[in-house]
Amino acid sequence: MNTGSNPTVKVFVFIDALGWKQVEKYGFLTDLLPYRRSVEMQFGYSCTAIPTILTGVRPAEHGHLAFYDYAPAKSPFKAMRWLAPLLRPRDFWRRGRIRNLLSKLIKRAYGFTGYFQLYGVPIERLPQLDYCEKNNLFVKGGLAPIPNLADVWETQGMRYHISDWHLPETENFRIAADHFRHGSVDRAFVYSAAFDALQHDNVGQDEVLRQKVEKYAESIRDLYQALDIGQRPFELTVFSDHGMTPLRGTIDAPTAIAQTGLKWGEDYASAIDSTMARFWWLKPDSETKIREAFKQFPGHWLTESEMKYHGIWREDHKFGDAIFLADAGVQFCPSDMGVKPLNGMHGFAPDDEDSLACWLSTVPVPKCVSRVCDYFQVMTGCGTAS
Ligand SMILES: [Zn+2]
Repeated sequence: MNTGSNPTVKVFVFIDALGWKQVEKYGFLTDLLPYRRSVEMQFGYSCTAIPTILTGVRPAEHGHLAFYDYAPAKSPFKAMRWLAPLLRPRDFWRRGRIRNLLSKLIKRAYGFTGYFQLYGVPIERLPQLDYCEKNNLFVKGGLAPIPNLADVWETQGMRYHISDWHLPETENFRIAADHFRHGSVDRAFVYSAAFDALQHDNVGQDEVLRQKVEKYAESIRDLYQALDIGQRPFELTVFSDHGMTPLRGTIDAPTAIAQTGLKWGEDYASAIDSTMARFWWLKPDSETKIREAFKQFPGHWLTESEMKYHGIWREDHKFGDAIFLADAGVQFCPSDMGVKPLNGMHGFAPDDEDSLACWLSTVPVPKCVSRVCDYFQVMTGCGTAS
């Protein structure tokens, strides 16, 4: 242990979807956490941001952009080919409860320790898809071969605590406070995710959101108090991965694609997420037809330089040959994520004001913190001074 050379306890509290806009609007903990900065989110979703936060590298390196990629050779679901003929009637297999049950069965059968959900992905396509979050990302080796936060804190000889993402957030706050009261950890990463779901449903509903934000403020004050009781010098930082953008319209991609006459798995493959449609061109003329069909939609095809800027450009086109990003607030619906649009969504252009994440702290914000991928170097002590 090197508590002698690292006497300061450093605590990082992650609140999913606590955007800069919400923080400003509700004046969230301005007294306790006076050092504040808006942060550019990582292009993608929480499933992109979390591996980025836990490693400090971006999707091009850690390989997590969205849950499903077209990758027939790598698909863990190859053996499920026999299922396809059994998937009649289709409507039955599209029911939410059935899909949740199936998700649990598949997760257990494949021994996935990460978050797994089928969402609205057509089951017959699974044998040609790969899934990125097979492992628990938070534990040692969770993002191997890239070292994650647990790996680094372990190597540094820190006594550390990283929340178990399976637990309810109230439990995560309670467990962390217990550690702090006893002064038993040097580093902590406290995980909370309930605000994300609440915002998806209630974006713009002040009475609902303010209440929840106040609840978080209480929880953070409890952590602060517990740290005080622990009688060690400490730094407390709250950060997030993105904000939330209200629904402003929808794009019906399946209908437009069907009108081209192209066949999934023969002419093209796709993964339609809530805010972007990713394509793999299996036949040369598919690209022209789909680009033409998409001309009517509000959004744009990402250029190579945009993908490089966002850290999602891969030579092997793992994330797709082409990506169409919807304009802020416009959701793909239906998509592989579901059949109904949500009141709020994230995963639009990172520079949109509703997308901004936040970094709030008891100590000055290090200069290096401007994007979500910068958190890691501060958490691991490799960051530049403020
Ligand atoms: Zn979300």
